[in-house]
Amino acid sequence: MRQLLGIPVVDGVVIAEALVLDAEKYRLPAQRPTRPGDPADPQRVADERARYREAVEKAKVEVEARAEDLASEAAAAAILMVQRGLLDEEAFHQDVEEQIAAGFGAEQAVSKVVNTKRKQFRQQEFTLRLLPDLDDLEQTLIVQLLGEERETLKDLTAEVIVIARDLTPSQTMSLPLEFVKGFATDQGGKTSHTAILAQSQGVPAVVGLGRVTDIVTGGELVILDGRSGKVIVDPDERTLHRYRERRKSILQLQKELEELKALPAQTLDGHRIRLFANIGSPDEIALAIRSGAEGIGLYRTEFLYSQEEPDPSEDVHFAAYSRAIELLEGRPLVIRTLDLGADKFTPAGLGFEANPFLGCRSIRYCLMEREDVFWRQLRAILRASARGDVRLMLPMVSSLEELVRAKELIEDVKAELRSEGQAFREDIPVGIMIEVPSAALVADLLASEADFFSIGTNDLVQYVLAVDRVNQKVQELYQPAHPAVFRLLLQTVEAARRNKIPVSICGELSGEPEFTLPLLGLGLRDLSMAPSLIPKIKRFIRSITAIEAGRVVDEVLKHSAATQTAAYLVEKARDLDPEFFD
Ligand code: PEP
Ligand code: MG
Repeated sequence: MRQLLGIPVVDGVVIAEALVLDAEKYRLPAQRPTRPGDPADPQRVADERARYREAVEKAKVEVEARAEDLASEAAAAAILMVQRGLLDEEAFHQDVEEQIAAGFGAEQAVSKVVNTKRKQFRQQEFTLRLLPDLDDLEQTLIVQLLGEERETLKDLTAEVIVIARDLTPSQTMSLPLEFVKGFATDQGGKTSHTAILAQSQGVPAVVGLGRVTDIVTGGELVILDGRSGKVIVDPDERTLHRYRERRKSILQLQKELEELKALPAQTLDGHRIRLFANIGSPDEIALAIRSGAEGIGLYRTEFLYSQEEPDPSEDVHFAAYSRAIELLEGRPLVIRTLDLGADKFTPAGLGFEANPFLGCRSIRYCLMEREDVFWRQLRAILRASARGDVRLMLPMVSSLEELVRAKELIEDVKAELRSEGQAFREDIPVGIMIEVPSAALVADLLASEADFFSIGTNDLVQYVLAVDRVNQKVQELYQPAHPAVFRLLLQTVEAARRNKIPVSICGELSGEPEFTLPLLGLGLRDLSMAPSLIPKIKRFIRSITAIEAGRVVDEVLKHSAATQTAAYLVEKARDLDPEFFD
C-alpha cells in the first residue's frame, strides 16, 4: 500500500482501477499482483516471461528502425543509447522478470521498472533530458506486449480512476466520462482547468500530486479521497473497508442534498440568494438544472476551441448558444466571450510568449490580435440573444479604455446585423469579469460603462498575489483568504452598489462553503459555481443568517494574515455544518 497527498478539488470517495494516461495511450488489461504470502501461478509466470522476452526482441528491431529514420543525429544517438541500451541490459530484464515473479502481468511489470528508472533519471541533469526516451521505450514495449489485443480509451467498459500528469481540456472532453469515476494528476492547482472540468462533471479529483504517474501502474486498485486529497494505491483490506464505509455515508449525504433541489437558497433570516452554474458546454446544462441552478452565470465559450476545431465558425458558435438557450427554457445565460491563451486553449497563430498569463490573451487577443475572431463570436451571441435571456460578459478587462473599445465593436456588429435584417436584442446587457486587480481598483470607473460585474476570483487571486494558479509548487501561496483579496472584493461590491449595477461572483470560491459567510457578508446575493456544488452550498445557506455573515466579514476585515482568516472561516463553517469538513 502506498499513499500520496495532493490538492483536493472535488469531494467524494472513489475506489476503482487506475488508468494511467500519458504512459498509456491505451488501456492495460487489469492484472493484480499476487497478494503477499500467495504464490504466483508458476505457469502464468513462465508464460508472461516468454511474452516479455518476445516483446523485447521485437522492440529492438522497432527502435533501430526508428533511429535510422531520424534526420537528427543527436536524436538518433539518444534513442540508441537509452532505448536500445536498456533493451540490451540484462539487469533491466531481470528487474522486469522479478516483478512478473511477484505476480504482475508483463505490461505492469514493464511500467513498474520504467517508473523506478524514471526516478533515477530525474536525479541528474544529463539523464533528465532523456526522460522522453524512457517514456518512448515503455510505450514501445507495451504496444508490443498488447499487440492486436490493445484496447483504446474508447473501449473502456469498466469504471476507472484516470491518472495523468495533467489533462488538457480537450483530453478531458474526449474521455468516456461514463466510466471515469475520478481524476488524479501530478500537476495543477485548485483552479486549474482539470479541476474546473472535474468539478463541472462532479467527478472526485485530486491534483498537484507531484509524482502519481510514476507510482501508480495501470490496472492497480486505487482509492481516491477528494476531500482530504489522499490517493491510496493498492490498499490493504482494512483501509479498503474503511473507505467503502465512507463512500456509503457520502452517497447518503448526496441523496439528502438532492432532496433540497426544490427548496429556495434562503438564509434563516429570509435573504434570498440566487445560485447559478458555470459551464464549459451546453452538455452540462442538464446537470446544472438537476442540481437546482437558476440559470448559467458563466458559460466559458473557449471550450468550443480544440485541436480538432481550432477556429470555429460563426455557425458553430451560434449552434452552441442556441442549444444552451433551448435547454435553459427561459433561464438566464451569461455568455463570456473568448478567454483564449495561458491556462486555456492557445490558438496556433499566437506564437511563443515567455509569459502568456500576462500576454496577448483573452480580451486582448480579441481586440489586438484577432478582431475577426471576436467579430464572428459577437455576431453569434447577438443573433442568439433574439432567442432567450442572453447576457454578454467580457473577460480579463483591465481598463476602462478596453471596455469602451469592446463596446464600440459590439455596436458596430449590431449595425451590421441591423443592415442585414437579422434579429437581436438591442439592449443586451454587457457586463465584465472583475478578475484583474486593476479592474477591481477602478471598479467605480468601470461601473459607469458596464451593465454588471462578475467577480472571477480564480484569476483575481492569481494576479493580485502573483501566484500561478496552475503551478502546484506555489499552491500554498495561492491564498483566497489573503487580506488583499478581501479588500479588492469589498471595493468591487461597493462600487457596484454605489453605481446600482448587479454584481455576482463566478470564481471557485463561490462553491466553497467556508467562503459562503464572508461572500454573503460582503453583500453578494448571486453566486455562480460548478453545477455539482450547488446543492451543498444551498444547504449551507439554509443554515446561516445574513446577520452572522455580516459579523464574519467585519471580523475578517480586521485580520492581517491569510492563514488566520482561512482557519477562522473553516472553524465557523464547520460549527454550522460539520458534515462538509470531517
Ligand atoms: C475566474 O478567473 O475566476 C473565472 C471564473 O474564470 P476562469 O476560471 O475561466 O479563468
Ligand atoms: Mg478567469
